[in-house]
Amino acid sequence: MSNSEPQSQQQPDSGNSDDARSSGPSGKQPTPNPTPRLGILDSFIFALLLFSLLRFIGMGFSSGAAEIPYSQFKDELREDLVASVVIQGDQIRGNYRNAQEQSTGFTTTFPPFDDADLFPLLEQQDVVVVVRSNEQSIWTLILINMMPVLLLIGIFLMATRALRGKAGGSLPGGGLFSFTKSRAKLSETKDIKVSYDDIAGLTHAKQDLSEIIDFLKHPDKYLAIGAHIPKGILMIGPPGTGKTLLAKATAAEAGVPFFSITGSEFVEMFVGVGASRVRDMFQEARKVAPALIFIDEIDSVGRARSNIGIGNDEREQTLNQILAEMDGFSADEAVVVIAATNRPDILDTALTRPGRFDRKVVLDLPQRDARLDILKVHARKVPLGDNVDLETIAAGTIGFSGADLANLINEAALLAAREGKTRVENSDLERARDKVVLGEKRESVLTDAERERTAYHEAGHALTAYFMPHADALRKVSIVPRGLAMGFTEQTPKEDKMSYGQHYLEDRIAIMLGGRCAEKLVYDEVSSGAANDLKQATELARHMVTEWGMNENLGALSFHHPEQSYPNQEFMLHKDYSEHTAELIDDEVRNLISNNERRTMETLQAHRTELDRIAAALIERESISDSDVAEIVGGDS
Ligand code: ATP
Repeated sequence: MSNSEPQSQQQPDSGNSDDARSSGPSGKQPTPNPTPRLGILDSFIFALLLFSLLRFIGMGFSSGAAEIPYSQFKDELREDLVASVVIQGDQIRGNYRNAQEQSTGFTTTFPPFDDADLFPLLEQQDVVVVVRSNEQSIWTLILINMMPVLLLIGIFLMATRALRGKAGGSLPGGGLFSFTKSRAKLSETKDIKVSYDDIAGLTHAKQDLSEIIDFLKHPDKYLAIGAHIPKGILMIGPPGTGKTLLAKATAAEAGVPFFSITGSEFVEMFVGVGASRVRDMFQEARKVAPALIFIDEIDSVGRARSNIGIGNDEREQTLNQILAEMDGFSADEAVVVIAATNRPDILDTALTRPGRFDRKVVLDLPQRDARLDILKVHARKVPLGDNVDLETIAAGTIGFSGADLANLINEAALLAAREGKTRVENSDLERARDKVVLGEKRESVLTDAERERTAYHEAGHALTAYFMPHADALRKVSIVPRGLAMGFTEQTPKEDKMSYGQHYLEDRIAIMLGGRCAEKLVYDEVSSGAANDLKQATELARHMVTEWGMNENLGALSFHHPEQSYPNQEFMLHKDYSEHTAELIDDEVRNLISNNERRTMETLQAHRTELDRIAAALIERESISDSDVAEIVGGDS
């Protein structure tokens, strides 16, 4: 019926996290526009093909005169019908005396034997005779012989261009083999419009990078005393936490050119292209050193090598080339490479070896204060109403990345603009938050009976959350369908948590089961609507038993389960415990669930009247707040 777990724990979609990279003001390409060169090439190829075609047609082209047998020509000559002939090699072209009737003339071919009668006859009939040399100019001969070769070259050029067009029309340079050139976008310092002031939070990451900024600003100072500055920095963080933004701002702070590329842009279908693109990019960067290269999504080329799977050659060659280039920096080449990933676990260890990406800068999801600062940074561009309370929004956006927060402000501005407002109100921000966290509102298609069941389901979650001693505070309960859920119960932790205690987790399982228990209590049956609740509760219980040592009988051991390995890892992890232990794990997971189900059922049975009242309030008002629930429950006790 709903996925009514504490929504603030959920990771919302990361929104438009790419915009800064793709079309930001500083993402210009300095590469000259290749169009004029390609235009000339086009015309050349076209002319070549046209010429070849005409030549071929022309070779078999005659004046349009009728071809007649040699015997007929002789007869017509005798009958004095022929006025003139042109003889060239074994060909005779002629015109008739009566031009109106025989306007087109004729052609014929000499017989392979000598005809001694012909010339006396021509003389006798007074025919005008022109004899032309049969030798063609040397250039005509060369051209005719070269024709097939030229035609082939033309077709090859056309095909290559079509292929390159498919591979990506914006390749720099117009040369035939320019697809091996680097596709990195170069931004000059003056074009980078972002500075450290525009980046809220990330204090540690900024501190870590300050040394790099100083090195790029004054490389001589470091080189003079033989200091080894890290060549490669690995930025690790979930999507949208500002990795690209920080790398760009670092280049701006240091005042050096910024080359940016994503790992996947190196790799094409042809083996070796990636490696030459890497070579080209480093060459370009060295030319303008000191410079900063940013490789986003390094995991797409830097994934751990495996023996399984085909099609790894290109990726491996590209990775090897990156490593070779990094090894090859000489001391006076102040080129620093920042690579970003949100999957450090799958990276090849060769990448993180000393001398390569040996410095790690970690960008976490922002905590409450940082979220507030990020909201403030993005709210600079938006006029806010007096009632806007960014602190409460920051408190209610646990799990949001910087990109999500930027998106939230934008969504709120869109909602306000749609209603013709000139300022963004707090209600717009709240609505935008709900939309980002819970999904877009859906038109309700529920029958009255379904609405009532949904109301009891959500009331069950809410009441359990209210009474469980370690639970997060209730925020909102609703039976308005949003996204895939038919209703939701939202809780907000008082503060950001980095780890969770056993009691808190058990209460969470109890709350997840609250909807199903309420249905069982009221209707004496359960429905399919609790599927997602059960899935989440089971997953949580399994983590508690197998990974977090929260079970007495299994003890403080970690049991690795194949399903817990990362989905696109190319090898399967096998479980490292016996079948007997596997059975024990299943039993303990089941016990954990059923114990908490019992607790929930007891709570709801003890507060059945409140359950009915909350459900009734939901049917009447669709959404109620934490204070409404407190009033209903408090009024009864
Ligand atoms: P991905 O892993 O998806 O490439 P990323 O970590 O590189 O994401 P960015 O592209 O740098 O994330 O961030 C996306 C947008 O989020 C930025 O353009 C900016 O608007 C906003 N943002 C992220 N972090 C911050 C921050 N700390 N301060 C201000 N804005 C931020």
